[in-house]
Amino acid sequence: MATEEEIWKKVSELTPADIVSYLNSLGDSKCPSCGHDVFSLATENGIKAINMILPYSDLDETGTAEYSSKALSAYCSTCDNCGYVNFFACYQIAKRILEKEQKEGHNDK
Ligand SMILES: [Zn+2]
Repeated sequence: MATEEEIWKKVSELTPADIVSYLNSLGDSKCPSCGHDVFSLATENGIKAINMILPYSDLDETGTAEYSSKALSAYCSTCDNCGYVNFFACYQIAKRILEKEQKEGHNDK
């Protein structure tokens, strides 16, 4: 079982190829906007996956969102046809990849 620290370290190590391989392992997916089936991972010059920071907050007792510095880190892929954007939580992807590697016994530490 990977620790939170190990998972965040893995997030920092993932390459675009690692992420694309993981996303392809999930099976065929269709764009919810246009039905196209080819997506591209958003990267900086193909070298590094873009890590989107999605801010969020808790709601106070009245249901009003309060300012906070909380954020979700996410990779995004875009539909090659219409530009629809999908977000995937970095932490969950790194966790799944790390646990698969540990199960298969090629932990590179
Ligand atoms: Zn589309």
